[in-house]
Amino acid sequence: MVDKRESDICIIGAGIGGLTAGALLTKQGYKITIFEKESLIGGRALSFDAASLTLENYKDLLSRFRMHVPFSEPDLEIIFKENMLAGYKLDLGYHAIGGGVLSNLNSVLSELDDHVEILESHVGFIKDDGFDFPFLSRIDKLKILPNIFRLLFSSEKTMKQLDSVSMTETIKKYGTGKMKLILEIFSRSITTVNNLDRISTGEMFRAQRNLYRGSKPVGYPKNGLGSIHQKLADFITQNGGEIHLEKPVKKILFDGRKATGVVVGDKEYSFKTIVSNILVQDLFTIADEKYFPKEYVKNIKSLKGTGSLCAYFSLKKIDSNLLGKTFHFIERNIGVDGNDAVGMIDFMATIPESGLAPPSDYLVQSYIICTPDEAKDKETLNTLRELLNKNLEKLVPDFRSYLRWAIYPAVWHLDGVAKTIDNAKSDIKTPVENLYIIGDCVKAPGIGINCALNSAKILCDALPSL
Ligand SMILES: Cc1cc2nc3c(=O)[nH]c(=O)nc-3n(C[C@H](O)[C@H](O)[C@H](O)COP(=O)(O)OP(=O)(O)OC[C@H]3O[C@@H](n4cnc5c(N)ncnc54)[C@H](O)[C@@H]3O)c2cc1C
Repeated sequence: MVDKRESDICIIGAGIGGLTAGALLTKQGYKITIFEKESLIGGRALSFDAASLTLENYKDLLSRFRMHVPFSEPDLEIIFKENMLAGYKLDLGYHAIGGGVLSNLNSVLSELDDHVEILESHVGFIKDDGFDFPFLSRIDKLKILPNIFRLLFSSEKTMKQLDSVSMTETIKKYGTGKMKLILEIFSRSITTVNNLDRISTGEMFRAQRNLYRGSKPVGYPKNGLGSIHQKLADFITQNGGEIHLEKPVKKILFDGRKATGVVVGDKEYSFKTIVSNILVQDLFTIADEKYFPKEYVKNIKSLKGTGSLCAYFSLKKIDSNLLGKTFHFIERNIGVDGNDAVGMIDFMATIPESGLAPPSDYLVQSYIICTPDEAKDKETLNTLRELLNKNLEKLVPDFRSYLRWAIYPAVWHLDGVAKTIDNAKSDIKTPVENLYIIGDCVKAPGIGINCALNSAKILCDALPSL
């Protein structure tokens, strides 16, 4: 049976990109239908009430998003059996939203007359004998900024030239002392890639420039990412749109080089416009590649994402001086791709009003960067786990005596497509008429959640208001 919806837009996937596009396009007058394969909205930024899942549900959920939990303390069986996660809201793995002007979260919600409260922090640095907070003092800024000022605020033409220059080359040229350390750490944390040869100087300086204006460098919504998804979903459904859960799109339909509809279950639906929010590398599992130029297919299939080992720690006590703060660390010569690895230990969720942990507990969130392959290798993961523990120990000496539990989720598809020199991200518009792709896999400002949000905004600007 064919269901005719010629003037409507179909969005495949209810990730943050699909939901943002859905809400903004609803505002523009379109009738939106979202098909989502999972039973929950939010995609990789999905968050859940941890006590609502059984151990089997939890493991299954993670595996569906290319993740697993290689370590925990105590065993996951005990954590679930003793209901130790009651009162916690967790994401699939730790998230922080990059700040500055790229953080469009509340500007998107303000278009829908809505708002979320964001916890925000500057970033400190973990040293052998304690920490600096913030990482850059005023004096540092005065000393360092003039040296890179020219680069930071150079024209887009210069930035484009710098796009193919690696951070390794830039650091050789400009990086000494603290400036070197800053360039090494921020370029890695901005891209979630440790190998400086792969990181583009243009991208790095664009991102840095954006951090000088707008909100603090990192943020996270009170009550978790799920609160954003729900607001976006409510806006869609309260204004005539539809969100269908557990409805995977099996196939995109084509008429020559024009997308005309989708197949869901055993039903065909016609749509004027189709927007794919799924991982771009999976596009050709639902779209026959014969309708696309060969070079396009080859490039899409070659694109690589990023990985990491996260750690959630539940502590009974922490020093009040750490409340609400976020810290970077760098570990040298540990044999990962890029040799050194950067990580983050975040106490934003430890403030009682975060809404993420029961009142008696402190939730510390953290991650250390690795490649997708490293995120599947137990030996490397074990090294990374020890480094996360070592850095937490520097901030919270003897943290084990305050530990209720620790869970270490590993992910081998964190960013859909890494923003690196070797990945040519595709445009939102595909070579096929009426088919667009959005999310963190396409060309849009920012990384991760910001990239997904910004891609949705670009799509909305490309389609006329009705
Ligand atoms: C553990 C982890 C930690 C992360 N940390 C950070 C961080 O600190 N900061 C940051 O900015 N980003 C982070 N990210 C990345 C961030 O989560 C993603 O960039 C963002 O969520 C991507 O959103 P999206 O809309 O592009 O795609 P997705 O979230 O991947 O959404 C795609 C949706 O499509 C659905 N789908 C797939 N196939 C089909 C189909 N055939 N039919 C219907 N639906 C389908 C999926 O189920 C999913 O819901 C992290 C990701 C992970 C996994």
